[in-house]
Amino acid sequence: MALPTYKRILLKLSGEVLMGRQQFGIDPEFVTELAGEVKSAKDSGLEICLVIGGGNIFRGMAGAAKGMDRAQADYMGMLATVMNALAMQNALEQLGVPTRVQSAIEMDKVCEPVIRRRAERHLEKGRVVIFAAGVGAPYFTTDSGAALRAAEMRCDALLKGTSVDGVYDSDPKTNPGAKRYDTVDYDTVLAGNLKVMDASAVALCRDNRIPIVVFSIREQGNLARVLAGHGTQTIVQEEG
Ligand code: UDP
Repeated sequence: MALPTYKRILLKLSGEVLMGRQQFGIDPEFVTELAGEVKSAKDSGLEICLVIGGGNIFRGMAGAAKGMDRAQADYMGMLATVMNALAMQNALEQLGVPTRVQSAIEMDKVCEPVIRRRAERHLEKGRVVIFAAGVGAPYFTTDSGAALRAAEMRCDALLKGTSVDGVYDSDPKTNPGAKRYDTVDYDTVLAGNLKVMDASAVALCRDNRIPIVVFSIREQGNLARVLAGHGTQTIVQEEG
């Protein structure tokens, strides 16, 4: 299904994709491949905001499950997203793409704080803006951070690059007959608890009418294919 023409997108990558073929952490070679995909999208004329998760390094829930204080563990997760943002900044700049990292937790030795008007200016100047540390508060995820930045930066769509090629009516790993939606509305996703993003992120996109495009970032060249309308994806949007 062809996508509408977007001018500005927010691309959310889960931290796990930065692991490449590793079990943990950051695979610099794979980050360079991902950066190449981002560069191609930018070279096609798009303005790009990026949000990267931290699940390849640390997730608050995992710490809490092992007895840590949840908020403390979540702050560690947010710091993990800053490391990923810096890794992606490095890879993009090595490919000649100008970038700025803005973190919701101020860290002025390594990046800027989140300042919306400044981010606007960066995009106008052709820079990719990488938003780190999610919303800057525990009990949230980077999906919510992505939805929030997509809303405040008035992005035309939130593209979620993940390990699966869309949204299914049941788990394709356990049900071989699971069906992938081409499009699905926000309320079906919320009511069915379909695994797209957490509910607060989906609700924020619904309330601000931001379509969510879910696609696999694991296959090389897929971001460009999806943007050109030749890819496989699910679009979560208002229907009817
Ligand atoms: N996190 C948080 N608040 C935010 C964003 C992230 O507390 O606004 C923490 C949370 O512990 C989360 C971790 O950072 O588990 C890593 O982010 P996420 O799980 O969203 O990463 P992803 O699954 O996309 O790799």
